[in-house]
Amino acid sequence: MNAHTNLKGAADAPFYLAQGDECALFEAASANNLPILLKGPTGCGKTRFVSHMAARLGRPLYTVACHDDLSAADLIGRYLLKGGETVWVDGPLTRAVREGAICYLDEVVEARKDVTVVLHPLTDDRRILPIDRTGEELEAAPGFMLVASYNPGYQNILKTLKPSTRQRFLAVEFDFPTPDVEIEVVARESGLAPERVKPLVRLAGKLRALKGQDLEEGVSTRLIVYAASLIAQGMSIDRAVEAAMIEPLTDDADVKRGLLDLVAAIF
Ligand code: ADP
Repeated sequence: MNAHTNLKGAADAPFYLAQGDECALFEAASANNLPILLKGPTGCGKTRFVSHMAARLGRPLYTVACHDDLSAADLIGRYLLKGGETVWVDGPLTRAVREGAICYLDEVVEARKDVTVVLHPLTDDRRILPIDRTGEELEAAPGFMLVASYNPGYQNILKTLKPSTRQRFLAVEFDFPTPDVEIEVVARESGLAPERVKPLVRLAGKLRALKGQDLEEGVSTRLIVYAASLIAQGMSIDRAVEAAMIEPLTDDADVKRGLLDLVAAIF
């Protein structure tokens, strides 16, 4: 679990290039106390978007990377033994509720089922967090906002959100940026000139077209940034592309050879 606060002002908000009207939607959700669900493949900018918006809105941000062992107690808090005394320690969700912060649950479908039960009273107009262990019933402070993300691409029927949960959220679909936007993002993040980023983005387009055939997932914007950063540091294009954009996608030798042919056709 990774919880942190972000109190940067709007001026130094982390760089985020919008793909559509998602910033306006987020602001409207925040102004109306509505929770929001970000759907989309891994590495397409969801987490960066949330940090950017938190800074723009001047709110602290608690980010929780959900995993299959994450329970409601990890989010809410627990009694811990400290110097012979038992003390209650708030979890990141409770802290966000008390402080009026944004709580971002990344890959929420990975978390254990008891987590969704906790989210329900927080996502309707009661906006309360019952803490069974302490007997408290916290009303969310003004500004509290719940944001969750998930990747609908994983074809795991057990790992989808139930309608009773997902219909409590506004939802916005994310995808990899259009080539022009992606070139700008990668150039800005890596320091490599846009002209040199262009073929990497073209290659990404071709790799993404293989999703569902040879590849489970297309290449993420994050991986293109990795490749471009290696090239900007002086690594050869072939080596950087192989390490950042081919090897992470597959372990199958035949598929890899096919992907390297694509690389050879572009560079
Ligand atoms: P996700 O949360 O969707 O898995 P991230 O937000 O971590 O993905 O994005 C991965 C990386 O891609 C970011 O660190 C950033 O460098 C880059 N990125 C992707 N989309 C954008 C964007 N629209 N604006 C700025 N950076 C982006």
